[in-house]
Amino acid sequence: MTKLSLSVLFFFSIFITSLAQPGDDELKNLLRSHVRVLASDTLQGRGLGTEGAEKARNYIVEQFREAGIAPMFENYLQSFSFRQNLAWIPAHNIVGIIEGHDNYLKHEFIVIGAHYDHLGYDFRNDEKRIFPGADDNASGVAAIIELGRFFASLPEVLGRSIIIVAFDAEESGLLGSKHFVENSPVPLENIRLMFSFDMVGMYEANRGLHLRGMASLDQGDELAEKVARRHDINLRQMGDNIERRTDTAPFGDLGIPAVHVYTGQKSPYHKPEDQYDLLDYEGMVVINNFMKDFISDLSRESELRQSPSLMVHMLRETGIIGRKPVAGFLLNTGRGFHRYPDEFFKAKPAFNVSTGFYFRLPLANLWSLQLEALYDLNSSRIQDGVFRRHSLTFPANIQISTPDVQGQDIRFYLFSGPYYRWSFSGESAGNKMDFDNVFSRDEWGYTIGVGLDIFRISIGYTSRRAVTNLMQSEELTLLDSNGYFSIGYRF
Ligand SMILES: [Zn+2]
Repeated sequence: MTKLSLSVLFFFSIFITSLAQPGDDELKNLLRSHVRVLASDTLQGRGLGTEGAEKARNYIVEQFREAGIAPMFENYLQSFSFRQNLAWIPAHNIVGIIEGHDNYLKHEFIVIGAHYDHLGYDFRNDEKRIFPGADDNASGVAAIIELGRFFASLPEVLGRSIIIVAFDAEESGLLGSKHFVENSPVPLENIRLMFSFDMVGMYEANRGLHLRGMASLDQGDELAEKVARRHDINLRQMGDNIERRTDTAPFGDLGIPAVHVYTGQKSPYHKPEDQYDLLDYEGMVVINNFMKDFISDLSRESELRQSPSLMVHMLRETGIIGRKPVAGFLLNTGRGFHRYPDEFFKAKPAFNVSTGFYFRLPLANLWSLQLEALYDLNSSRIQDGVFRRHSLTFPANIQISTPDVQGQDIRFYLFSGPYYRWSFSGESAGNKMDFDNVFSRDEWGYTIGVGLDIFRISIGYTSRRAVTNLMQSEELTLLDSNGYFSIGYRF
């Protein structure tokens, strides 16, 4: 063995030794003692805005400090309040940060979160019932405290920076994590990944760990499997579905890959029996050791990207895609006439009809582009008879609609855009139109109108006005004008 490889091995073994600190037994004791405190009767189930929640908060802040996790704000607290019935309820996220060691990547973040609130207590038959919430979610809070301790003691394993958050008000509708993303202390686009540790105390009973939403990170499942092979851990549900019932949801809604770290609904969920002595602390050690290694690896990955499926989900949420292009049949009937802008008279209106197909292409949000191909008969009554043209007309309209009325396939819309009309035959006062010398075949103009979609049927009013002369000669200007009642049927 060369000197070089010996020294590499030497440093590697130091690295491994330091990775293993504190020993598994010590880690187990720490995890257990956090859960014991957080799920104890003195904390009264950590109900929102209660004294028990305040005690829990003080404990977590103290543990963050002791673990060497730097406060994100002056005193770790991101405070807010929200209205519940008539009262304003105060709530507080607890936020710490551990800076990464890569000069470039440290400006990106991985959020490691766990909610610390639970259901508090109630009274049944005059007897107080406390919901200790050991698995839900003292277990998750214990996990993030110990992950924080590990990374704070060994920040050189981190490329990206880590934000450790104990969320409040999860049980009231993910309010803590919503507040966090709405008031993010770092630019949201720099948060590359989020983990919500929510119920991680039942590894053995669950026969494994779920990493739900792992594939919302591009290659996330593969990266997790790769690290799992170095550990004696069983990974179960992964995939790209971001869990909506935990703090992953507000992150996922913003396009941030978000993973629910979870050992299943094996504990007495939301019951007074969710006690600290039911949890599998050995399993929590397995999970913590795996996540240390996994998060270290992730923090040094050259790029953390959303999976294509999350991107598609986001585009759908913002309305950029998701509405499919549609096609249908269109019939416009009404009246048309010709204007002579330089003369004192105008032709009298006569029957007009145009019919054909439309193709509606969704653009962003409530905007669409509607292309139409129509056969068109337009006519007017002139002094010595009838003027009548047969044409093909191609309108291209931009359409803006209201949102769907009460979630139904019903909406109002306005539209406008240019059209091109090509005339292939016609007669004027009994004579065939001479398109070679007298009349022009090409016509340009614009359309403007309103409509209403009711399921497959649309009705509306369409007005079309030419801006180019129907005559070749400049001596007479003749402009076409049509007004239609429109009816459409979507295929
Ligand atoms: Zn929970």
